[in-house]
Amino acid sequence: MSSQYSKIYVGGAWVDSEGSETIPVVNPATETVIAEVPAGTPADADRAVAAAKAAFDAWGATPPAERGKFLGWIADVLSAQADQLAATISAEVGTPLKVAKMMQVAGPLAHLASHAGLAEEFPWEERAGGSLVIRAPVGVVAAITPWNFPLNQVVNKIAPAILAGCPVILKPSEVAPLTAWAIAEAAEQVGLPPGVFNLLSGTGPVVGEALVRHPDVDMVSFTGSTRAGKQIAALAAGSVKRVALEMGGKSANIILDDANLDEALSAGVRACYVNSGQVCVALSRMLVPRSRYDEIVDRVKDIAEAMTVGDPETDVQLGPLVSETQRDRVRSYIDKGVAEGARLVTGGSAAPDDLPTGYYVRPTVFADVDNSMTIAQEEIFGPVLTVIPYDDEDDAVRIANDTIYGLSGAVWSSDTKRAERVARRLRTGTVRVNQGGRGRGPFGGFKQSGLGRESGRFGLEEYVELQSISIPDH
Ligand code: NAD
Repeated sequence: MSSQYSKIYVGGAWVDSEGSETIPVVNPATETVIAEVPAGTPADADRAVAAAKAAFDAWGATPPAERGKFLGWIADVLSAQADQLAATISAEVGTPLKVAKMMQVAGPLAHLASHAGLAEEFPWEERAGGSLVIRAPVGVVAAITPWNFPLNQVVNKIAPAILAGCPVILKPSEVAPLTAWAIAEAAEQVGLPPGVFNLLSGTGPVVGEALVRHPDVDMVSFTGSTRAGKQIAALAAGSVKRVALEMGGKSANIILDDANLDEALSAGVRACYVNSGQVCVALSRMLVPRSRYDEIVDRVKDIAEAMTVGDPETDVQLGPLVSETQRDRVRSYIDKGVAEGARLVTGGSAAPDDLPTGYYVRPTVFADVDNSMTIAQEEIFGPVLTVIPYDDEDDAVRIANDTIYGLSGAVWSSDTKRAERVARRLRTGTVRVNQGGRGRGPFGGFKQSGLGRESGRFGLEEYVELQSISIPDH
């Protein structure tokens, strides 16, 4: 692990925080402290913003292809440390190592590397009648990220921001911040100009809010809870900053009556439990035909009970939850589900017998769930699946859309045209049909799941201002 965790990275230099406090980073499987990072202060935020602002003119004027090259080089440096990055994320988040290598590291680094090519494809300038339309960088960007996919969420912000010509101050989650140091080291190693990437650790209410309020920050790109996102949007309004918000979800997985149940149920259970359910697009509501409800609940129970839970360094499917707080929050939702009358089919709020240490929660399934119950309406962010019956296709769509969220969803059918018709009726930013991958489409939410989109060229568009220059004919 990095020896630099004691410093923050500002203006191309490793410096001490103005404060003396640190934040412990805890391994959720062992409950031991694995690192301490600086608890940054508002004065640190001022320094980081000043460094980013000072870098803006030159970086914004650097040709996009040059900017993209730096991102490719950073991806190369990080790819050489992929195993170490996966081990770090596994240790701070609890993601099983095998899953971490693929989902937490390989995917994000491929996305980072793709930005070098994106620089060549993106329409930086075009003509519209007599106007020259320029896609200019927004300015200084504060990137505020969560703990569940720490490298992925950071890449989704810093890559398009830097490519667009925007210097960045990254405020990673205080719960799982460690890979941010590897990024800063890589930026230093490839000679990214000082101030283009700055790393400032600390808590949301202290450094996060200081960045959001700062008059010299032009845009805040946030991923995290809807609760914090609303606060950030309200604070940012004070200086009319641009905000991009990637927030929570309560996504529905509609299993239509002609679906291949073998595939749909096992994929559906996994899509709820991956990363111990700590996934914004977790398919946490499974909507199934009432006519086959009992049979499906029995099969889902068997699949959930076969999931392996334990030490993330071993060959398991689920590790612990990220923290004691998160574990307790999930347990209290399970208790609430029982109290509100849902039927606990398997799992529950008691710790697994064989795992006395670590923040583990057993894969949990609730049946007889009404969509108005708390466990069907609120994002639990744990391995808790609710199985909800529907009467017909219209009823399934109604239930799926009956939520404040609109992040993701899935539709299973042996008739993909039918599935597509249902998918089009879902009010969510992404929908998967059967085993469909995410492709190269945009990622983001409708309703209270977000504002703006991430990924590839759609993500890049968030970090540009459209400037129209009208030049008379001569
Ligand atoms: P969180 O909202 O508690 O924290 C996210 C980040 O915001 C952290 O860096 C935190 O320090 C900071 N923060 C918190 N309050 C702040 C404030 N008032 N001002 C400025 N910054 C503040 O979220 P979390 O617990 O880290 O992550 C889990 C949440 O993230 C879930 O709700 C999940 O759905 C969401 N999420 C969404 C996506 C997506 O792409 N839509 C992806 C991953 C996670």
